[in-house]
Amino acid sequence: MSTESGKKILIIEDEKPISDIIKFNLIKEGYGVETAYDGQEGLDKALSCGCDLVLLDIMLPIMSGFEVCKKIRETSEMPIIMLTAKEEEADKVLGLELGADDYITKPFGMRELLARIKANLRRTELLEGKTEQPADVQEFGKLQIDMNRYEVRKDGQPLDLTLREFELLKYLATRDDKVFSREQLLEDVWGYEYYGDIRTVDVTVRRLREKLEDDPGDPKYIITKRGIGYYFSKQ
Ligand code: CA
Repeated sequence: MSTESGKKILIIEDEKPISDIIKFNLIKEGYGVETAYDGQEGLDKALSCGCDLVLLDIMLPIMSGFEVCKKIRETSEMPIIMLTAKEEEADKVLGLELGADDYITKPFGMRELLARIKANLRRTELLEGKTEQPADVQEFGKLQIDMNRYEVRKDGQPLDLTLREFELLKYLATRDDKVFSREQLLEDVWGYEYYGDIRTVDVTVRRLREKLEDDPGDPKYIITKRGIGYYFSKQ
């Protein structure tokens, strides 16, 4: 009855009781599970186990979760969900800056974790299905965005966007200079309740600008409307 069979999740978490309960619940849902109990083991497994998604604790022996995240991103776009401590708000932002796709705050409920995992795996499926989609390229100045194939080029050179960055860009670029609040973008692009942490949007915009803009400090595509939010300028 599970629709998730065949998907494998890597849990990188040094607290065995937490790792065990996550593992138990994932197996019950039909996922395959790999576990690692320190950062180095986690990184090695992430790069070799053929897993579809990583759950990554931050405070780990040998190598921190941040470092593991950064190293995975050097070679892989696999979805990474960071497990962050409640009192450390800054961790969420740093994790996203290092390329994590999502985070969940400890202590979390299993239903919430499973929902996050499903949402992130769904995005990967969209990405993997890209070759079956016909091209739908729209041009904005130097940018060419293929709306179906999740590809962005600048002056013909492909840009390496994460799925979330692409989705935010596509959302703004297809909505005619309209200004969106951070809350609206969270709801529509991230697609589920994000507990009002609108900095997630700011971090993703900053990463996008670094990839899209000639001068990220003087953006021409994604523009800040002070006190309101962001919009896309079509050039
Ligand atoms: Ca830990």
